[in-house]
Amino acid sequence: MAEIEVVSSDGARRDGEERPRPGEPDPDPVVDVYSAAAYGDLDRLRGFVEQGAAAALREPDGNGYHALQWAALNNYPHVALYIIEHGGDVNAADHTRQTALHWAAVRGSTSVADVLMEHGARVEAADVNGYRAVHVASQYGQTSFLHHIISKYGADFDALDNDGRSALHWAAYKGNADTIRLLLFLGANQVRQDKNGTCPFSVSNATKVSFEDKYFPGRSRKIGYAPFLFAYLVVCLVLFLNSIVFAPNFSRITATAGLWSWAAVTLFFASQVMFYRVSRKNPGFIKANTKRHDPKEPLMEIDLANSSTWTGNWSQLCPTCKIIRPMRSKHCPTCKHCVEQFDHHCPWISNCVGKRNKWDFFVFLWMGIATSFLGAAVGFHRLWTEPIVLSPSESWIHFMVTKHPGAVLFMFLDVFLLTGALILTGAQAVQIARNITTNEAANRSRYTYLRGPDGRFRNPYSQGCQRNCTDFLINGYSNDEEVAWPTLQQTVQRS
Ligand SMILES: [Zn+2]
Ligand SMILES: [Zn+2]
Repeated sequence: MAEIEVVSSDGARRDGEERPRPGEPDPDPVVDVYSAAAYGDLDRLRGFVEQGAAAALREPDGNGYHALQWAALNNYPHVALYIIEHGGDVNAADHTRQTALHWAAVRGSTSVADVLMEHGARVEAADVNGYRAVHVASQYGQTSFLHHIISKYGADFDALDNDGRSALHWAAYKGNADTIRLLLFLGANQVRQDKNGTCPFSVSNATKVSFEDKYFPGRSRKIGYAPFLFAYLVVCLVLFLNSIVFAPNFSRITATAGLWSWAAVTLFFASQVMFYRVSRKNPGFIKANTKRHDPKEPLMEIDLANSSTWTGNWSQLCPTCKIIRPMRSKHCPTCKHCVEQFDHHCPWISNCVGKRNKWDFFVFLWMGIATSFLGAAVGFHRLWTEPIVLSPSESWIHFMVTKHPGAVLFMFLDVFLLTGALILTGAQAVQIARNITTNEAANRSRYTYLRGPDGRFRNPYSQGCQRNCTDFLINGYSNDEEVAWPTLQQTVQRS
């Protein structure tokens, strides 16, 4: 692909690649039919042709490239149309057998592709390396262009080049995540090997066995650590009742301490109800598209142009569920579903935290804090008010551990739980105030919608701390549909 030069025309300037420095003389770059085509100067192209240079539209330039290729590269559909109407061959190939459609794929010139296709361009034209337009688009990460020629002109996305590589091989090799996502969404072959025996995704990744797969195979993966957390909590309760409240080696509990103990135990059972609720409640799973796909027309059931949720972000395509998901949702491999306003998959509740159970999760955390704090307070009171009789050689810690081992163990487990709950609740509270999910906070660089025009982080969903908090406390989630930031709307229009 090194043969394709990047022209510093207006097209290139739009990409911010080259721009003449102020003060320097800017020599007129349009000297012939080819440069007029490359710079999209239709008036002067017409002038050259009317002065007798019409033959140049059918012949390559000194480097063997056609005027139509230059117009295609820089996306000048009106110039391309003029060239075709004045004798330019729509399938003319250069010395590497690349056509104008190949060059259109480099920069993702979709409107030129339409002109070319309407005038009989061959979508499956292959160059000397066997690259078709789908390969070139994948190499350059031109996802919109790729989608366009596949959905509108039926380009074969599983076609192979001379080395047996598909568009998916190239997208994976170049690391173009959006292109990979689109091809997987369309059902591109993931297991086919090229001539070197390489699959689109490296073997080490495919055979990587996670910790859970190894030690908790099959169904238990979904069960997660919730049973462990439950057992931990039950142990805490038993220790609390046995070694703190009704411990025979403590003096009789005071009425006040008894009342607080009773409150702690009540809160414990209320938290258990919340624990059950948060782990079983639907976090906002989005129904997968289970309809059988016609392999020849994979996009027929999903029309991007008429989808209400599509905002032009390729990250919205889920290759597994075969759906266009709303912004902010993500596929959870453990739950095997896309989750609306995905926050994180919490193994301790064996469920995802998302739009529909985030409020419950937050309340559960607060109940956890209240319960473990009360337990710790009562435990501390009991240990503190107990008379300590130390022998001269005995340390305080040794006395406590030997005299009240259950109480010490309870305090240790309880404070550990309290610390964890406090950290998690603090993190959640900060994110709620900013209206950002744990996933977004952790992967902010991956999401284009979290970037402003200057490329810096910006959260379009935040409506100010106060509004974010009240929305969450009243509804349990934020209404993203109300978000009306200009760039999001521009994105919708562009698609
Ligand atoms: Zn999914
Ligand atoms: Zn999950």
